[in-house]
Amino acid sequence: MRKIIVQKYGGSSVANTKRIESAAKRIVRYKRKGYDVVVVVSALGDTTDELLDLASRITKNPSERELDMLMSTGEQISVSLLAMAIHKLGCEAISFTGAQVGIITDAKHTKARILDINTVRIRRELKKGKVIIVAGFQGTSPDSEITTLGRGGSDTTALALAKVLKAKVCEIYTDVDGVFTADPRIVKDAVKLESISYEEMLEMASLGAQVMHSRSIEVASKFNIPIHVRSSFNNKEGTWIIKEVKAMEDVLVRGVTVNKNEAKVTICNVPDKPGLAAKIFKRLADDDINVDMIIQNVSRTGSTDMSFTVNGTDLQKTLRSARVISHDIKAKGVTHDKNIAKVSVVGVGMKSHSGVASKMFSALASKRININMISTSEIKISCVVDKKKADEAVKAIHREFKLGRR
Ligand code: ADP
Ligand code: ASP
Ligand code: MG
Repeated sequence: MRKIIVQKYGGSSVANTKRIESAAKRIVRYKRKGYDVVVVVSALGDTTDELLDLASRITKNPSERELDMLMSTGEQISVSLLAMAIHKLGCEAISFTGAQVGIITDAKHTKARILDINTVRIRRELKKGKVIIVAGFQGTSPDSEITTLGRGGSDTTALALAKVLKAKVCEIYTDVDGVFTADPRIVKDAVKLESISYEEMLEMASLGAQVMHSRSIEVASKFNIPIHVRSSFNNKEGTWIIKEVKAMEDVLVRGVTVNKNEAKVTICNVPDKPGLAAKIFKRLADDDINVDMIIQNVSRTGSTDMSFTVNGTDLQKTLRSARVISHDIKAKGVTHDKNIAKVSVVGVGMKSHSGVASKMFSALASKRININMISTSEIKISCVVDKKKADEAVKAIHREFKLGRR
């Protein structure tokens, strides 16, 4: 049996026809080296943003089903163009939508999860010697509705395919040379990591490092699939995302991340009674709202403010729910703040070392950046700060931990 390799090309790697042709050349090179190649592609450049912008000009409250119909068209353009570019190089290739290739998801529009992939069609076409090109970020629900997996979801399509096809490796081609100690667009002296553990990459991705979709790392980690994140603009070795090895523990902090797409919501003067927190967060969960950080102060006056953060894209929906809750529990209304950002440090070494939090706080203090909220876990510390100060905060923390090029 030939070795299967899954390669994913992100939006910037297929932003125009020249880049599509260059991706095609790379794919054909692997094919001629003897691999069976399965390719996952994102929409061209900023197509998904442009499609969402069109929708927002029509309504502020679009149906999520229709959003999926709209967004899934982006990837249909890129797969077909890439197939044509491969044909031009004298190699056989066939493009598929998620539905055609049997990517079955649940029915949660705009954030669907993959349930199963039927590989019969892919294997049949591979046997004929074809390169398989699959539209990223989309699938079909058991009721044949088109779904999408959430922004950045093509990485997850790639890892799910790597899993069901038992690929030896999943290559993620993007516009940077690999995973860095911080977003290289913000921190100029950020360093490319040779390798990073699944655990750390999952935290970094969940905390805003856009380079990988966090759910793709969950799949890779569960099935131990090595990921190679690398640039589509050169042939350099990138970053390997792999199972933790002993030496990785020696590094205290692996990287710094920022998420500028969160919003803080406060329910004011919540009566200090048992059961109210449960009531608030049950209602939010029932409305499919993911809550991130929560803070509640000790009450001195019989009532207290309850603040929490949510994904910015869920803000309107959250405010609607929070207003209903506030009324039900006799609180004094709801306020919100969109001008926040969450900066975090991540590293498995934190499990066994102390002092990381104080170092992070003093880096922020040295720049007179106020900390709004704090949360910690075994391998990360996050602080909410003013969005305008976010990049400065990332740079200061990166410097404090001496993560830059020396
Ligand atoms: P693609 O279109 O290839 O999926 P993305 O835009 O989703 O690419 O992700 C790549 C971008 O992620 C980079 O251009 C970079 O600015 C950003 N990024 C954020 N944090 C990191 C990090 N720690 N390492 C590398 N890139 C990062
Ligand atoms: N095109 C989708 C997006 O922009 C999916 C992806 O690029 O992974 O979010
Ligand atoms: Mg991406």
